[in-house]
Amino acid sequence: LSSQVQTFDFFYFVQQWQPALCDKKAACCYPTTGKPALDFGIHGLWPVNNNHTFPSFCNENSPFDENQILDLMSDMQKDWPTLACPKNNGKKFWAHEWNKHGTCSLSMLDMHSYFQVTLALKEKVNLLQVLKNAGIRPDGRSYGMKAIKEAIKNGIGHDVVIECSNDVFGNNQLFQVYICVDKTGSDLIECPMILKRKCDENIVFGDFGSDTEGSSI
Ligand code: 5GP
Ligand code: 5GP
Ligand code: 5GP
Repeated sequence: LSSQVQTFDFFYFVQQWQPALCDKKAACCYPTTGKPALDFGIHGLWPVNNNHTFPSFCNENSPFDENQILDLMSDMQKDWPTLACPKNNGKKFWAHEWNKHGTCSLSMLDMHSYFQVTLALKEKVNLLQVLKNAGIRPDGRSYGMKAIKEAIKNGIGHDVVIECSNDVFGNNQLFQVYICVDKTGSDLIECPMILKRKCDENIVFGDFGSDTEGSSI
């Protein structure tokens, strides 16, 4: 940890397909504020350098402070829910994302701006709608990984990176989508570098199961 102000080149805006956190071996837990809607949720906004390095934990003098983002709380609960166990209100996840990633973009965004622009990106990029428009629905069926990329490219105008995980049955499934964003946090850009993430050719796009929530409290 340090307190130097870091530079960086662009952001990855990372969204997670929430049911994919619930059908892995490790259980998920719905937040204490309620079961999330069937949608992508925000994972984070991550500063990246063009040379493939990812700054992290950049400023210990700027700890997460929920009092600075009280006006954003209802949108945070809706768009940035935690699926971690034990169930909680999300502040641990937001604090982690701020401390690990957000403190590395202080040269561009203060804490309030960091959360505000991230929520605005979620509103601007409706991934689920874009996929539905292409006939790709979270119905538990398999879709071509390239068809998913193509649908998103058609919908948002840029290439994205898809990340997959395996569900309890061993099926490869849609897990996360990485969108590149300029360092002000407001404009989508073409990704300056290619991030390697593993996916099969065909991947499952699933719903929450009827009883997928973890049993740990
Ligand atoms: P995973 O092992 O799931 O790929 O990543 C674990 C954590 O490492 C992520 O939640 C994230 O905080 C960090 N991480 C992984 N890949 C990247 C990346 O491409 N850029 C940045 N900034 N962080 C990453
Ligand atoms: P990363 O380091 O990859 O940015 O963030 C992952 C960390 O946040 C892990 O420690 C994980 O336990 C925690 N976390 C809490 N809630 C969530 C969630 O809903 N999704 C993910 N991916 N991580 C979460
Ligand atoms: P290309 O960029 O030539 O279409 O693909 C190169 C290789 O990377 C292929 O194996 C392709 O399936 C894989 N690939 C392309 N885009 C993505 C992506 O967004 N996510 C993942 N996991 N693999 C990708």
